[in-house]
Amino acid sequence: MTALKDILIRRIRQTGPITLADYMAECLLHPEHGYYTTRDPLGATGDFTTAPEISQMFGELLGLALAQSWLDQGAPDSFILAELGPGRGTLMADILRATRAVKGFHEACNVHLVEASPILRNAQRAAMPDREITWCDQITDLPDAPLWLVANEFFDALPIRQFTRKGGGWAETQVGFKDDALALGLSAASPLSDLRHRLADTTDGNIVELCPAAAPITDEIATRIATHGGAAIIVDYGDWHSLGDTFQALEAHEMVDPLARPGQADLTAHVDFEPIAIAAIRTGAAASKMIEQGHLLARLGIQQRAERLAERLDGKALESHIRAFERLTSPTEMGTLFKAVAIAPAPHLLPPGFDA
Ligand code: SAH
Repeated sequence: MTALKDILIRRIRQTGPITLADYMAECLLHPEHGYYTTRDPLGATGDFTTAPEISQMFGELLGLALAQSWLDQGAPDSFILAELGPGRGTLMADILRATRAVKGFHEACNVHLVEASPILRNAQRAAMPDREITWCDQITDLPDAPLWLVANEFFDALPIRQFTRKGGGWAETQVGFKDDALALGLSAASPLSDLRHRLADTTDGNIVELCPAAAPITDEIATRIATHGGAAIIVDYGDWHSLGDTFQALEAHEMVDPLARPGQADLTAHVDFEPIAIAAIRTGAAASKMIEQGHLLARLGIQQRAERLAERLDGKALESHIRAFERLTSPTEMGTLFKAVAIAPAPHLLPPGFDA
């Protein structure tokens, strides 16, 4: 039994079953035993891999989209270049490398990384040894200033609550325990104002998930963008107006039982982009339509970039480059599963690749 499992069972014995959100928060970010607090989970030897770890093209293209957006907004001479949940720092390092040739961009940008994990902060430092970086514990710590921001596979790590429709009410998925093991159960059903709008498109037994932190985080981003200028690009696996159970655990690239080894597996849920866009628009900012990752990368010129890089490669390196291109863009891989939404001060100021 893991130490965290002990802690959770003790807590549940004392105060009753906990929500999935509480369970996810403890498993991912417990200060001593949390998944992200205790390891670097990325890459072939880790539990999962991400677009920037697959190919430099992902960060290069997003970086140039952000830089074009900065130029479109008059190239302000001081701004925050921020990333939420930067992992190993690969995406930000690729963004910085790709934008070196954009005149004035590097002189004007102050890099801020929002990262909870001390281990990953060290990896980020190592990925960008010569760069001045400010780390923030949370998004509210970002300065009030023009903000260009990127977040890849950040929102999927935020804790979710999950509800099953029963008549006009909703029963919440809870983590309790049975025979000394953690077990999922359902609370009694009751009406829920946060889900009133889902009564129209669901029927008995349907599952709906809410991510309580997504709207407040988006509010922080979009308020800065609406007030001071900037843009955000949010990429994740997910959908619009999501339906169904998407809570999952990954260990060594395999799906595992999310309750089996708390703190040892990556826990995620698909991102619902609809409440993110709504939260952005509520601040007075504009949100783009949701676009599939493959489609976005195609619009940003991944084909041309891939061909340029291929000119310098042969043998195994060329094969793996072609394979990486397919993984990022193919409809059977990340191309359609992953989606993106952008936020800007107004619809005509959305970064390249995005439609209002
Ligand atoms: N964006 C990276 C890594 C994605 S993994 C990539 O694409 O490769 C999720 C990242 O979010 C990790 O860096 C993790 O430590 C961080 N993270 C998860 N929950 C967080 C939270 N609540 N606050 C800050 N960072 C968090």
